[in-house]
Amino acid sequence: MIGFTPTDEQEQLRNTARGFADRHIRPLVERIKQEGAPDDPWPHVKPIFEEGAALGFTKMFVPEEMGGLGGSCLDAVLVLEELGAADVGIAGDYFALTACMPLMAARAGGASGEAFVKRFAETPAMVLAGAQSEPDVAGSELMMAGPDAAFGPKLSARETDAGWVLSGRKSAFITNAGAADAYFILARTDPEQPVFSGLSIFHVPAGTPGLEVGRKTKLIGWPLTNHAELVLDDVKLPADALIGQRGGAAMTFAQVPEMPICLAACFVGLARAAFDHARAYAADRKSTGRPIMQHQAVALKLAEMGINIETARLHVWQAAAACAGDPMRAGMLLAPMAKATAVDMAIRNAELAVQVLGGYGITSEYDAGRYLNDAWIGWSCDFTRDVLYLGIAQALTADG
Ligand SMILES: Cc1cc2nc3c(=O)[nH]c(=O)nc-3n(C[C@H](O)[C@H](O)[C@H](O)COP(=O)(O)OP(=O)(O)OC[C@H]3O[C@@H](n4cnc5c(N)ncnc54)[C@H](O)[C@@H]3O)c2cc1C
Repeated sequence: MIGFTPTDEQEQLRNTARGFADRHIRPLVERIKQEGAPDDPWPHVKPIFEEGAALGFTKMFVPEEMGGLGGSCLDAVLVLEELGAADVGIAGDYFALTACMPLMAARAGGASGEAFVKRFAETPAMVLAGAQSEPDVAGSELMMAGPDAAFGPKLSARETDAGWVLSGRKSAFITNAGAADAYFILARTDPEQPVFSGLSIFHVPAGTPGLEVGRKTKLIGWPLTNHAELVLDDVKLPADALIGQRGGAAMTFAQVPEMPICLAACFVGLARAAFDHARAYAADRKSTGRPIMQHQAVALKLAEMGINIETARLHVWQAAAACAGDPMRAGMLLAPMAKATAVDMAIRNAELAVQVLGGYGITSEYDAGRYLNDAWIGWSCDFTRDVLYLGIAQALTADG
């Protein structure tokens, strides 16, 4: 059996993350609440991202000898819950995604992945993006295409004497598009092969000729994040832009359970923020001479919210612990379970917060409605809940 008591070092890390969130993320979130969502969020977030990167929050998985924190997935989820409690979008998009991408590069194997990790480690504050989904391909096909080569992403990578030429489009949801310094782009290297063996990962630095950031997508929440389409028009890349094995993309992504787990941790933070907001309101608001939290109908909601936080956190911690002990189980089962559960709990807590605040729950003066929008974004971000459930069902029934 394992225990879930953070070490002194982990407590220190968590306190550092909490202090950073209080000093840097929360004031920006408050300002944007007054001013409205900016058209271009990146200039607002950039100074904060640089501060967070200086604290090591983008290099949590980079080995210490290379200048990173050399942390475990458990370390990372402690940090990301704190950042997510301040703003789930900033935590998930800029910090969780950027921190996990170098793991993908390292686990892909080969010299180009290693070289990228070294460059990432040496650069003070690099923002990363991963582009897999495409406008005319259901996101589910990335996970459930099966053996038919007709399904899955179509963006093509053609091998030439000089390297590779990439052409096609990526969906309007590419996180950090426009802010990223580098993109990891999934492309079809073998059109006759199915998703499992026909896709490869390419490292494309921002500014590479032929790579354009297309139409921006406005989300119902996460006002400080960037999502946009990518258009690749004969993007010429050197041979070593290929990360890992040709055709090895699906296997590589399956080996990074940290990605959904870290995202899940951000939603634990959001579930907590919704609870804190509702609890504070329920302590202040009075009905028949008593704070509403002393009325059982409200107290029961607060109890459910507390249970939801612990449920989500335990899933996330269990999955994070398994990354070290049983990475296969983490990837196949525990990571998708943690992500689906943490988002469910964040949605439920935000709904309950809306109820606890009564009429004020649906005003923009208070945060409950904002949390609800933020939480729903998680439902389809990095695979829909249903597709995750189908993957879990497949894993649980594989030998039946
Ligand atoms: C905030 C956010 C950030 C994102 N960031 C990125 C990113 O950085 N990079 C990237 O590449 N992509 C990104 N995405 C895209 C994301 O991965 C997809 O939106 C997601 O996988 C869902 O795909 P879809 O939108 O095509 O929905 P679809 O796959 O079209 O699904 C539509 C509906 O049908 C259901 N469905 C689809 N297929 C099946 C099936 N076979 N069986 C049963 N039900 C099915 C789904 O559950 C859903 O309810 C992001 C999305 C969001 C919302």
